[in-house]
Amino acid sequence: MAKSPGAEPIPALDTKSRAALERFVSRYRVTRGKGFRLRDFDPRDTAGLKSEYKPAARESLRRGVAWLAQEQEKLYAQDRWAVLLVFQAMDAAGKDGTIRHVMSGVNPQGCLVTSFKQPSAEELDHDYLWRYSRHLPGRGQIGIFNRSYYEEVLVVRTHPALLGAQKLPAQLAGKRIWKERFEDIAAHERYLARNGVLVLKFFLHLSRGEQRRRFLERLDTPEKHWKFSAADIREREHWDRYQEAYEDAIRHTAAEHAPWLVVPADNKWFTRLVVMSAIVGAIHDLRLEYPRLDDRQREALEAARAQLQARPGGKR
Ligand code: ATP
Ligand code: MG
Repeated sequence: MAKSPGAEPIPALDTKSRAALERFVSRYRVTRGKGFRLRDFDPRDTAGLKSEYKPAARESLRRGVAWLAQEQEKLYAQDRWAVLLVFQAMDAAGKDGTIRHVMSGVNPQGCLVTSFKQPSAEELDHDYLWRYSRHLPGRGQIGIFNRSYYEEVLVVRTHPALLGAQKLPAQLAGKRIWKERFEDIAAHERYLARNGVLVLKFFLHLSRGEQRRRFLERLDTPEKHWKFSAADIREREHWDRYQEAYEDAIRHTAAEHAPWLVVPADNKWFTRLVVMSAIVGAIHDLRLEYPRLDDRQREALEAARAQLQARPGGKR
């Protein structure tokens, strides 16, 4: 990736900076679902930071963006790990803005955002993980799922008619189906982790009151009218069922190798800080390095140098 001229490489995080990131991450990271309760997490939480901290948070975000750009180049060069970032949230929680801010510095060639909406007829003709698997990041890439296979235990669970549309054989669509889907998803993520995919799952946890405020703001601001959808208001009516579905999904799928981050989403500046800190911390822990050349590869580079130097000034 092109670096701006004269830009100094950003040093690897030292132990102190790595530990400092945890301040914004550890309390929101869920790696064991047992006993998880959504109501233990406050959407308004800012880890004790007052809004005066906003400019400093912005500066941290800027540094995180630059660091991530640099690490992405190593990820790509090394070509071993893939990174999958899953974003789930109720409407207006700020998924789009968070993705835009956090990924703003990375090379678009190594990063792919996929937004999952209602499935097409072709997608409904396949097993439910099919459409998501097709968009998984390859080695060296960062894949972002804006909504994901979790919709299969969220919106589909909240609206039973959607399950009907999935054309499953009747005897397979019984009461056990949600438990089975949790098992499938957990197994799928374990499989990905074992294949070198770093999986991080973000639930942007918005309060119902803040969602109302943001919807009203959309209605009051002509530039935001395009974002308004009557369907969002209808979904809001199912708020409690969605929250239960989220809680159950997190309980059944939180794991050390595929953690959930339950990120407070009522304050956008804080949401972005937590998401960035979690991504930087997890990628740091991969200890990415540029590939080391073996003797033969080094000799090939020297030969190339000799060849170029032997014919100076060539214009063609
Ligand atoms: P934004 O509103 O910011 O553009 P969005 O993710 O809400 O982003 P929409 O087009 O508004 O995008 O909504 C997509 C809809 O598709 C959501 O209501 C979501 O629940 C639904 N959806 C996603 N996956 C599935 C699925 N597997 N089955 C049925 N509906 C789904
Ligand atoms: Mg929407």
